[in-house]
Amino acid sequence: MKQNRRNFLKYSAVGLTAAATSHVAVSADSESAQPVKPVDVTSEVDVLVVGGGTAGAVAAIQSGRLGTETLLVERFSQLGGAMTSGGVAFPGLFDAWGKQIIDGVGWELVKECVELDGGEFPDFSKVPRGHWMNQVHINQFLYSILAEEKCEQAGVKIAYHEFPEAVRETENGWEVDCVGFGTRRKVVCKQIIDCTGGAEVVGMMGYKRLREEERQPGSYLFQLGEEHIPASDQLHRLYVHGADSTNSRTVTEANLTGRKSILKKVRKRGKRLMHLQPETGFRESYRIVGETFITVNDYTSGKVFDDAVAYAFYPVDLHSKTGVKPKPLKPGVVPTIPLGALIPKGSRNVMVAGRSISSDRLANSGLRVQAPCMAMAQAAAVTATLAIAGGTTPSNVPIAAVRGELKNQRAIVPEV
Ligand SMILES: Cc1cc2nc3c(=O)[nH]c(=O)nc-3n(C[C@H](O)[C@H](O)[C@H](O)COP(=O)(O)OP(=O)(O)OC[C@H]3O[C@@H](n4cnc5c(N)ncnc54)[C@H](O)[C@@H]3O)c2cc1C
Repeated sequence: MKQNRRNFLKYSAVGLTAAATSHVAVSADSESAQPVKPVDVTSEVDVLVVGGGTAGAVAAIQSGRLGTETLLVERFSQLGGAMTSGGVAFPGLFDAWGKQIIDGVGWELVKECVELDGGEFPDFSKVPRGHWMNQVHINQFLYSILAEEKCEQAGVKIAYHEFPEAVRETENGWEVDCVGFGTRRKVVCKQIIDCTGGAEVVGMMGYKRLREEERQPGSYLFQLGEEHIPASDQLHRLYVHGADSTNSRTVTEANLTGRKSILKKVRKRGKRLMHLQPETGFRESYRIVGETFITVNDYTSGKVFDDAVAYAFYPVDLHSKTGVKPKPLKPGVVPTIPLGALIPKGSRNVMVAGRSISSDRLANSGLRVQAPCMAMAQAAAVTATLAIAGGTTPSNVPIAAVRGELKNQRAIVPEV
């Protein structure tokens, strides 16, 4: 006992010295006790990517690879967003009608993840019976680490557990106040790419966003009974009706509701809970009103926009209270994504990528899937970099330059 107390005192003294030098909490009875304050840091970068999910990780990697100083701020603790925290580890669709339509950084990540994991690819040269057959099954755990590695190799700095709380326009771009636990970060940047899934930064800037009263349900992914083997099967899932990714209160509510339903299932079925994702997957949130607005007609007719920067491919896929009946696209139709749909109308120096793309609800139900989110993220990063190089704003970057650089970066760009 005596010995333990002596050790305790010894360790306490060491702890106090460490605490004093690194400004972490000291015990209340210490004479040097000071109120704990968050540490102020400043990051001066070219591009700030907010949200390191499906789109954000790709945007940051592409931006960094172009030599653009990039900071990626993510409020969670890993990259991948819906793919990893949500467990939707079956990205699609990289192909349409027998050929690949999306390549570039997103495909590189997915491909490397499958190869390293010893997995299998669908045969893109064949048109499958159902669209889901050509989704690529990936190991979500591996994907998030690979994305981190690629960020590091591209020189991207990652700030986890942080999120913006205020944004101010400056002459040359933006000043953004971010907070995290123990950290207050001021970001000075030239361009912002909002990849939050709900255009949260665009909302803070005061640009118009859309969201209908009715939203698609979210889903909570888990596994009962059998072991979950990554990439080899799809997890069990249940709908979380009313799931809303708007703020910490609504996300808390969705997660509590989802987990409570899972606990009910465990009790009812008497099976072991073998896997549980950390967060609800949100299908629908706010969308921007962009310089271009994609309607369901544009989407289902395969309109080739003058400023098309990527293809998309997926049925119109709107989940409701009773489930989903995907409406496949007509044979040969491949929708395109215009750059204008990534730029909030009337804005300067800000873009979105991901499911918050400017579109109506039905068009969005197809555009929101992962491969197009990755493709638009790469386009946004290239455009942001060209805007910085030209001392201009994304809507003034010549579209030929964007397309040309995207091709250099191995993206597939629609012919116009
Ligand atoms: C249940 C379900 C099934 C689906 N099925 C498929 C499918 O079969 N195939 C397919 O391809 N797609 C599917 N999707 C759609 C697809 O997964 C998503 O639409 C897509 O991943 C969205 O990508 P994103 O980058 O826009 O958002 P996300 O991947 O959600 O990333 C947003 C990121 O931003 C972070 N963030 C949010 N706000 C802030 C903030 N203020 N500050 C800092 N960080 C922030 C989040 O933590 C997250 O990491 C499905 C979706 C769900 C929910």
